[in-house]
Order: sequence, then C-alpha cells, then structure tokens
Amino acid sequence: MKRLKAGNLCPECNFEMVEISRETFQNMKVFKPKINSIPQKIQNSKSGVLAICPQCDAYALGIDMEKGFSFFDKGGNLTDIHKISDTFWNKQ
Ligand SMILES: [Zn+2]
Repeated sequence: MKRLKAGNLCPECNFEMVEISRETFQNMKVFKPKINSIPQKIQNSKSGVLAICPQCDAYALGIDMEKGFSFFDKGGNLTDIHKISDTFWNKQ
C-alpha cells in the first residue's frame, strides 16, 4: 500500500490530505473518533506521521471542539481544522 502524504488527494473526496504526528494521532484516539481516511493498516503501523483527510475526518480532527488538533499542510505549515474549514465543500 502506498503511503499517502500531505498534498496528495484524498481517494474519497479529492481534498488535499494533511499530516498528523503519531503523537497527535494517539491524542485524537482518546476521543474514539471514527477515522475514515487512514487505512487501519497505517493506523497500526509505526509510521511517525499519518496522512489524514481534513474533510473526511473533520470530526476526528476536532471541528466541533473549541481547539482542534494541529496538523501540517503540504507546505509543512502547522495549522488546524478551524483555520481551513472554510475551504470545505460542505461548510459547517
Ligand atoms: Zn477526503
């Protein structure tokens, strides 16, 4: 399986994927979200960064929380779901 990276297009919705660190992923999982865009195999791997689709996984990334989880865009900039959610097709 080819590992996706930030800037690759989501296979589901064609939105640009972003990357979260393994640490952020573990913090995210505390909330037991349904994660749509990271294959289980990748979730269980030891990969230090995981590509995630911010549109498919807006809830996992904390769109309904006051402060979302930080992630990196394809330019390597640290951002979060609230800063980019106005670019989604289905605005919240
Ligand atoms: Zn997507």
